Amino acid sequence: MTKPNKKERTLVIIKPDGVQRSLIGEIIKRYEKSGLKLVGLKFIVADEELVSKHYLSNPDWIKNVGQKAIDAYAKVGKKHPAKNALEAGNKVYQSLKKYITSGPVVVMVWQGMNAVKIVRKITGGTEPLTSDVGTIRGDLTIDSYEIADVDSRAVRNLIHASGSVEEAEEEIKIWFKKGELINYRLVQEAILYDVNLDGILE
Ligand code: ADP
Ligand code: MG
Repeated sequence: MTKPNKKERTLVIIKPDGVQRSLIGEIIKRYEKSGLKLVGLKFIVADEELVSKHYLSNPDWIKNVGQKAIDAYAKVGKKHPAKNALEAGNKVYQSLKKYITSGPVVVMVWQGMNAVKIVRKITGGTEPLTSDVGTIRGDLTIDSYEIADVDSRAVRNLIHASGSVEEAEEEIKIWFKKGELINYRLVQEAILYDVNLDGILE
């Protein structure tokens, strides 16, 4: 069995629509009350260079996002207009750059056991129309692939959250300098992680 990494980290960005919808507090609250620990936080306007580093750090991302778009159409019995995954992915990428750079964003690093998976679960699936009730994207917004495509824009889904531990490590390096992340102890970590709970009862 693998030893759990209590210091796993993941990157979360509240995208410009989250800021414009006055959802910063609501969104942070949902991650915070999970038990994960906030170790980095900044409020910035991202430029295109930062966004391209972020999305293109994984060489397969464009093709994968394009394939996901094609599959989403097929699932509802429709044919995606692009001729292949690369073309579909490139279109998404161009509109994403505009979306993410359109206004201020909140960039955060959350740390704790299974941080990547826990954050993805709380965030919900990419498309708000089909993401689960109870998740941030499922509860707090309404966009869909189809409407976004009709308007040639990115799906506005409030959040970016790293998809894997490797992706998180790469992305955190892009948005934060080492000294901007804070190592500290939260008292609640004892009840989350300690084997021995002696000392609670007086
Ligand atoms: P996630 O953010 O859930 O990890 P992806 O990495 O696949 O999703 O895509 C990155 C972002 O690109 C999404 O959050 C969304 O804003 C946008 N996006 C993804 N697919 C599409 C699409 N088919 N049409 C428009 N925008 C899309
Ligand atoms: Mg992703």
